[in-house]
Amino acid sequence: MTDNFKLADLLFPDIKDTPEALEERFPERKLKEGSKVTRLAPSPTGFLHFGNLFTGTVAYKTAKTTDDGVFFVRVEDTDQKRKIEGAVEVMLGGLQAFDVIADEGVIGENKEKGCYGPYYQSHRKEIYHTVAKKLVQDGYAYPCFCSEEELTALREKQEEEKCDNKGYYGKWAKCRDLSFDEQKALIESGKTYTLRLRSPGSTDKRITFEDMIKGKIEMPENIQDVVLLKTDGIPTYHFAHAVDDHFMRTTHVIRGDEWISSVPLHIQLFKLCGYKVPKFAHVAPIMKEENGGKRKLSKRKDPEAAVTFYQQEGYPKESVNEYIMTLANSNFEDWRKTNKDADISAFPFNLKKMSVSGALFDMVKLQDVSKNVISLMSAETVYNYTVAWAQKYDSDFAAVLSRDASYGKAILNIDRETPKPRKDIACWSEVKDYISYFFAEYFDGNFVLPENISADDAKAILEAYLKVFDAADDKDTWFSKIKELCEPLGFTPNVKEYKKNPEAFKGHVGDISTVIRLAVTGRKNTPDLHAIMALLGQETITERLTGAIAKI
Ligand code: GLU
Repeated sequence: MTDNFKLADLLFPDIKDTPEALEERFPERKLKEGSKVTRLAPSPTGFLHFGNLFTGTVAYKTAKTTDDGVFFVRVEDTDQKRKIEGAVEVMLGGLQAFDVIADEGVIGENKEKGCYGPYYQSHRKEIYHTVAKKLVQDGYAYPCFCSEEELTALREKQEEEKCDNKGYYGKWAKCRDLSFDEQKALIESGKTYTLRLRSPGSTDKRITFEDMIKGKIEMPENIQDVVLLKTDGIPTYHFAHAVDDHFMRTTHVIRGDEWISSVPLHIQLFKLCGYKVPKFAHVAPIMKEENGGKRKLSKRKDPEAAVTFYQQEGYPKESVNEYIMTLANSNFEDWRKTNKDADISAFPFNLKKMSVSGALFDMVKLQDVSKNVISLMSAETVYNYTVAWAQKYDSDFAAVLSRDASYGKAILNIDRETPKPRKDIACWSEVKDYISYFFAEYFDGNFVLPENISADDAKAILEAYLKVFDAADDKDTWFSKIKELCEPLGFTPNVKEYKKNPEAFKGHVGDISTVIRLAVTGRKNTPDLHAIMALLGQETITERLTGAIAKI
């Protein structure tokens, strides 16, 4: 037996499995040609960043635009110190709420499905050790007994000597060339150790790879003897990534671009393990504009960095997905213009059309996108979404709105389901304020008259209107009655005439309807007033007009 084999047995006495057996247990997926397998691999911090949802959506769409595409979720929970109860549920819930639903992998707290698991890294120790054992046998890994202090001293020495390449490699890698007997003695003395890669890289070689988003990238080869297994036997991100994405048969590794500098190491690891290198797509972080510059969307500074923000504010998943696509693919908006009614899943999402430097988050744009999306929904859908949102975040409003569903739906149907629907609502938390005047408990009868209308005129208008209005009038009759109020009160029904000769009148028909609108709704701007009055009904309007007259 060679020393490498003896060392492998010494380090991993309990590992009987082999990489060949793993290949059989996790065979290549039998998918139609061109199908992509992607994944999201969150660490369970309990906080789902908008960037996670963004990258998750990108990975999901990438898989779903192919015939048999598979999107799975793997939980990267190797950092047991940072373990948070319930974190996975929260994060998956956030993804699922916006339709990023895994075909496979972790689908709930300690719940998985699929044949390529376990999908919690903390349950995969055997698998990592099986591969690590093989690397030791092949001479590509060795135990390193250096303590933290020794590693710090090494860094300091490299600083002092102004070394170009710092780190643990080549002549600096103290434990690289220990003999088997030395290794054995140290292990048997109980000294702790990490397992390091014996990197075959060299400083004068470079590697190139084609990033699906960023294009061709050239970088120096990896020369570092990085840690593969920590002292507790838990793998580092790099090693776990290579092992997992190979045995889970990921075809496209889609992840944040903070990992781009590690690609030379990753490619080296894939090759040393004898794996096919997957395709990489590195997603730039979502940015925000600040003081004329750009910075990353920040959990600390930006409430919209949390996916829960969209749930709390009540942005429907349709809006958020639509907005994510505008951020993700530069051609999405053009596609939308020519495919107004198409389901978003019909959009041919393409990694190559993603921003290389990071798309800019714009709240106003999100709101505009959402207003448009919501304007195209039926009253029934808007009603159901609003009630569901309110049940969670505003139970009083939920009770008020559910009291009479057909009334609620009729309110939400005003200026909706027409060729030019109004675009007033960006999220469900705005609905209460938007329609509050329809409900006695929210209507307080307060309003401020515009400057150009005197209290006496307003009173006269309302008194006259009180005598003639009928909530059952059709729209033409309703409007004729308003016009007929004009002349006796010194106003004109003709706006053009007013503009030509403003001195001759107190105002025009628009001013009259403003006063009525204010008295009936408390607002200067509303959707179609005729429809509003028809819904409020004779009794309520009489009360409101009378109340307004008394208040003025
Ligand atoms: N757990 C890693 C992260 O959250 C995943 C990176 C990857 O997708 O490979 O950054």
